[in-house]
Amino acid sequence: MTDTPFISPEKARELAKRFGTPLYVYDENALRRAAEACLAFPNAFGLTVRFAIKACPTAAVLKLFDSMGLHFDASSIYEVRRAMHAGIAPEKISLSTQELPLEFSDEIKAGIRFNACSLDQLERYGSAFPGTRVGVRFNPGIGSGGTGKTNVGGPDSSFGIWFEYADAVRFILKKHGLTLERIHTHIGSGSDPVIWQRAALASLEMVKKFPSVDTLDFGGGYKVARVHGEKTTDLRTCGAPVRDAIAQLAEETGRKLHFEIEPGTYLVANAGSILARVQDVTDTGKFGRHFIKLDMGMTELLRPSLYGAQHPTAIVPSLQRANTPPRGEVAYVIVGHCCESGDLVSCAPGEPEQLAGRFFHEVEIGDLCLIGGTGAYCSSMSAKNYNSFPEAAEVLLQADGNARLIRRRQTLEQMLQNEIA
Ligand SMILES: *Cc1c(COP(=O)(O)O)cnc(C)c1O
Repeated sequence: MTDTPFISPEKARELAKRFGTPLYVYDENALRRAAEACLAFPNAFGLTVRFAIKACPTAAVLKLFDSMGLHFDASSIYEVRRAMHAGIAPEKISLSTQELPLEFSDEIKAGIRFNACSLDQLERYGSAFPGTRVGVRFNPGIGSGGTGKTNVGGPDSSFGIWFEYADAVRFILKKHGLTLERIHTHIGSGSDPVIWQRAALASLEMVKKFPSVDTLDFGGGYKVARVHGEKTTDLRTCGAPVRDAIAQLAEETGRKLHFEIEPGTYLVANAGSILARVQDVTDTGKFGRHFIKLDMGMTELLRPSLYGAQHPTAIVPSLQRANTPPRGEVAYVIVGHCCESGDLVSCAPGEPEQLAGRFFHEVEIGDLCLIGGTGAYCSSMSAKNYNSFPEAAEVLLQADGNARLIRRRQTLEQMLQNEIA
């Protein structure tokens, strides 16, 4: 779909001058378009779209989605608190977490929704809040992710309650007088739409075992193409058979299930770019490589080092040489600023340790580099403060064309504030 970041060379130079680099830039129009696509997800009896906060938890992004009617999926109690701090109403936040907090009664009393993700979580929730309504995350027995690291379903995954344990769930519900209102599955990020559909239909089977359930939450995982050759999941085609199955269930049983989806990636991935500066250009001799060293790295973008993820890159020549004719193309390996050879921006697809060149007209120190597809799991999932580089600033390019600072650059004092010498 997209092979170039959305920022024009002129805008890139303006932003670098005004806010410095490295800089995360989010595009309001792109965020809105993605949210509208999700709100149009096929459904038979109503839909709630929850933004998976972990993909990009910055308050301004949460507030924008809130204003469009989205709800939120939190994967830790801290994300719940962060969203509430940003002004999100607790009723709009649902918690599905690997680590149940010891104490979260304030948030539950405030009205957040909770999905128990293990039998022990359900037991602990039940003893603390007997007689309430609760959701359960099931592992439907199948999973699918863009990489093994993001596959969170099937026998090798610790996420959710194994689908064969429905009786144990029923026992705990009864013991504490809980009402199961929602069944939740999330099988992985970047999941295969066909396997996603199979998992969705499997959760429909679970619903049949629990008559009190009125909501089915299908999680997220919808694929987004960041570079040429990758494929974006078509939400309409993907959701249609599931909608039909739910309509069928209503005909057979009269049960009209409410739909929930929890996209993270789909809502933000291609609405964000990183703006960096080329701070060095080196090579390793006649038979070696050419390298571009940026003023960012795994401290802002971990996905290539972690997954071998591919992100589109573009060079914006400095103004001095923007008007001189470009020279020949050279294959450059783009590396980050951390003292680690694994800090690679241009690796081979799925191969975090394999260098891959990208062709650019000769690059010079001082040029800018745009890295696209970096709205999801970049700012939120980096090796922040490694080598003591400060956390980068974030900017929202508003629909009116103005850029607004939404997170300041971290200072050294802030980085050290909790140290006791
Ligand atoms: C991470 C996560 C999501 C979002 O996944 P994406 O691949 O970003 O769409 C949704 N639901 C749950 C429970 C998650 O953990």
